[in-house]
Amino acid sequence: MGETKFLLDENEIPKAWYNIQADLPTPLDPPLNPATKEPIGPDALARIFPLGLIKQEVSRERWISIPEEVRDVYRLWRPTPLYRAKRLEKALKTPAKIYYKWEGVSPPGSHKPNTAVAQAYYNMKEGVRRLTTETGAGQWGSALAFGTMLFDLKCTIYMVKVSYEQKPYRRVMMESWGAECIPSPSERTQYGKKVLKEDSKCPGSLGIAISEAIEDAATHDDTKYSLGSVLNHVLLHQTIVGLEAKKQMDMAGDYPDVIFGCVGGGSNFSGLVFPFVADKLTGEKPELRAVSCEPKACPTLTKGPYTYDFGDTAQTTPLLKMHTLGHSFVPPPIHSGGLRYHGDAPLLCKLTNEKYMEAVAYHQNEVFKAAKIFAQAEGFIVAPETAHAVKGVIDEALKCKETKKEKVILFNNSGHGYFDLGAWDAFLHGKLVDYEYPAEQVKKALVKVPKVK
Ligand SMILES: *Cc1c(COP(=O)(O)O)cnc(C)c1O
Repeated sequence: MGETKFLLDENEIPKAWYNIQADLPTPLDPPLNPATKEPIGPDALARIFPLGLIKQEVSRERWISIPEEVRDVYRLWRPTPLYRAKRLEKALKTPAKIYYKWEGVSPPGSHKPNTAVAQAYYNMKEGVRRLTTETGAGQWGSALAFGTMLFDLKCTIYMVKVSYEQKPYRRVMMESWGAECIPSPSERTQYGKKVLKEDSKCPGSLGIAISEAIEDAATHDDTKYSLGSVLNHVLLHQTIVGLEAKKQMDMAGDYPDVIFGCVGGGSNFSGLVFPFVADKLTGEKPELRAVSCEPKACPTLTKGPYTYDFGDTAQTTPLLKMHTLGHSFVPPPIHSGGLRYHGDAPLLCKLTNEKYMEAVAYHQNEVFKAAKIFAQAEGFIVAPETAHAVKGVIDEALKCKETKKEKVILFNNSGHGYFDLGAWDAFLHGKLVDYEYPAEQVKKALVKVPKVK
């Protein structure tokens, strides 16, 4: 029957991250200054990011060493286990072999601390005293609270006000790790004050919280800003997941035919898949498939065109070349399945646009249904985001049953769903509504996207 878990020793934690920019057939389109439409230089970012991370953002070196202090923190929960989902295979009666990398074992419960810890370290090295960020439901905020605590930095988290009021448990985690969590919009920033003056009962949005966090960092000398997904250096830090998984798949004596992951900003999936996609770019594994799974309520890769757009609603960031639903995109309120960002990581978008990777979109009820099958076979109750990947995997495994193919399937089990039981509850009691973001709406929003030649 073979093993269920493939475990590495602590001394096998990778010593370098993999930078896919070294192996791209053509370089990534650079971020642009929205006013001049010219590429922005690294110094434009220096006000809000430390130099160490800016260098990683633009680096074309294939391997970037992981500092020993960061590896030492990773030891708390890394290497993470790779599982063979034998009980799920049996439940589905599929000839496919299903593997998953389990990132829910980190203290914050997801893959996010892989980058939070690294970002806190590089900021600490450059004398930064405090980090700011935004958070929606609180997954990223709790990961950064954890990372900053380990390197003695202060942390200020602007949390979307509705979530702050309705989902207290992630806030309690952030505060337990010593971070300050502020409901956004707030009186802390000029932008927050302006929003509150116009609407004192504003429930907040991720776009507003980003603008507050950036303003806070830009107006304080000892403070920088931190982002939990999308950027190249974030994806770089997450490749530790795929590098470990590659060694573990070796131990299992298999190589994946198809890899699935859920995509919000693209960091957990890119982290797992890039070290494998490397083999496709070199021509060593031309048949490898990599499939992004996203919600039909926020169908960035499947419906959004590949074009330059702002990273935030308030139009304060540089323009990034990516698949986008338009920066004015507002996630439908009935959607509780996570993954609500209007764009996606430029690296992931480029590889998708050039057909090295593919994408599918699902409704939230079918996604939870798949996650329930997974929970009842493997035990783990996954995050609503992760559930999208599970849906992709189960569909593929059932296809293998029809075609009698013994494919090897791998996915990133990016986190647990213990703080999302409200969404699970809604699903289990028939209260989730499926919603498909209309194509006309995408067209309308794109009118506001800046024109770049
Ligand atoms: C934040 C989060 C995601 C989505 O973000 P990506 O950058 O696309 O990985 C997915 N799964 C979990 C568990 C998360 O916390």
